[in-house]
Amino acid sequence: EKTIRSDLEIAQQTVLRPIREIADRIGLQEEDFDTYGKYKAKLTDGLLNRLATKSDGKLILVTAINPTAAGEGKSTVTVGLGQALHRANHKTMICLREPSLGPTMGLKGGACGGGYSQVLPMEEINLHFTGDMHAITSAHNTISALLDNHLHQGNILGIDPRRIVWKRVLDLNDRALRQVTIGLGGPAHGVPRQDGFDITVASEIMAVLCLADSISDLEQRLSRIVVAYTYDQQPVTVKDIQASGAATLLLKDAFRPNLVQTVEGTPALIHGGPFANIAHGCNSLIATQTALKLSDYVVTEAGFGADLGAEKFFNIKSRIGGLHPDAVVIVATVRALKMHGGVDKTQLSEENLAALTDGLALLEKHVETMNLFGVPAVVALNRFFTDTEAERNMILEWCQDRNIRVAESEVFSKGGAGGEALVTEVMQALEEPSQFRPLYPDVLPLRQKIERIAKRVYGAADVHFEDKALRELERCTEMGLNELPICMAKTPFSLTDDPARYGRVEDFTITVREIRPSVGAGFIVALTGNVLTMPGLPAVPAAFHMGVSEDGQVFGLS
Ligand code: ADP
Repeated sequence: EKTIRSDLEIAQQTVLRPIREIADRIGLQEEDFDTYGKYKAKLTDGLLNRLATKSDGKLILVTAINPTAAGEGKSTVTVGLGQALHRANHKTMICLREPSLGPTMGLKGGACGGGYSQVLPMEEINLHFTGDMHAITSAHNTISALLDNHLHQGNILGIDPRRIVWKRVLDLNDRALRQVTIGLGGPAHGVPRQDGFDITVASEIMAVLCLADSISDLEQRLSRIVVAYTYDQQPVTVKDIQASGAATLLLKDAFRPNLVQTVEGTPALIHGGPFANIAHGCNSLIATQTALKLSDYVVTEAGFGADLGAEKFFNIKSRIGGLHPDAVVIVATVRALKMHGGVDKTQLSEENLAALTDGLALLEKHVETMNLFGVPAVVALNRFFTDTEAERNMILEWCQDRNIRVAESEVFSKGGAGGEALVTEVMQALEEPSQFRPLYPDVLPLRQKIERIAKRVYGAADVHFEDKALRELERCTEMGLNELPICMAKTPFSLTDDPARYGRVEDFTITVREIRPSVGAGFIVALTGNVLTMPGLPAVPAAFHMGVSEDGQVFGLS
């Protein structure tokens, strides 16, 4: 009989190697990093410059079909595939996002992978890690404080307090802070106005940190962020309120990628973690670029499913950073495919081959989408204990019949050893030259960029723009932002903008309600549906079960 160990137990029972050993293995010198305790390090500023003449390794993106609320195992497969490559003696690095305390304390749990495919020390990575979230929160709120001080000190710029678009942030799920009133108490206490909090990972600073390629680029991007509009509706930037220097200073160490290791000692950079809806949802560009210089294979992931995560990885991150993705792994699970085949969420652990067949149409759509970008794809079936043999065989045969590369992944239960079949398929995909191309050129007008994504990636028949969105698109044109890429904010659960419509839906319309320019990050956000930038906690949050025992052992993290 199998004894199932929790992610935390596996993490705590793993003997970690000193981080110097991991750094040494990827060819780093003593001056290339600073240790943060025994098992974490920050790379030195300027390392990427010093590596500039080195050639890049192969870039493998891990994405997924539209997930269930539990997540389908992208992080787990990313770590597991990295371990499997490492085990096969390939020089490999993994790049992941930094977890946010919102989901850690809330419903989803941490973001370090799972089972025998985790990055460690997960207790630290999931909590305060090296303080990057704190630095981003502080930089963001410094801008807020300078903005309100500007109003208080006479408002020379003529900022309209009703048109301030820069909220405050906190790295927690706390719905009570979505709308607040500040500056109450009379003239000595500032100018009263309505404000609100977003979660830190939704801050534009997080997106900026993840797309900048040097500290000076970081400062320039920060300075361009629009924080408010004046009474005559002119944009006011971070530079206008003289906040760019201080914000850059607060971010100087947060901008340096963090080095850690996996359960099997594979080197991993964990750096940055922007929201996958109003931002692009992948780790920092600088971490990915550095890993490409330091290793032959880089495995990384993008948030949500392929319709959002991979699309943004290709159209935003790869465009801005000049990346050339060589292969893409699409994670699928039996349970999510059944959900997309119409099975009720409470029945997902029961065998249902008919529903599975229907759900596979969605997988097919995502494979087609990856082909559209010219990147060779491999389907990874992330195996769960509850999957039946008939279900697994059906997926494998279905893919083989269509000449779709497919492999089962057992990296959750076996670590790198459970990823051998996946490595074989990925290696074959890498032999096929990637014809990567973004979906649209910079010069395509914003509206057409949105239509192209909706039609080609989601399969929509049409896009409806609400009046507000049309006015905001016009404003973007006036601001000279037409050449920026689009960042779609859409539900991850469906190809459509309705989270309850599963499977390969066809003949639907996407409604764009709002357009927000993220001028610093360098993209235009198109919002469909209601996007919460400050999530709430569920009735039974993960936080209920957490604590520290008398002997100092952490419990309740997952
Ligand atoms: P994603 O990155 O797609 O959100 P994660 O890799 O974080 O997904 O996995 C979500 C949760 O599911 C984690 O708690 C992880 O431990 C668990 N998980 C992933 N794969 C498996 C598997 N094959 N069997 C059991 N649990 C799994």
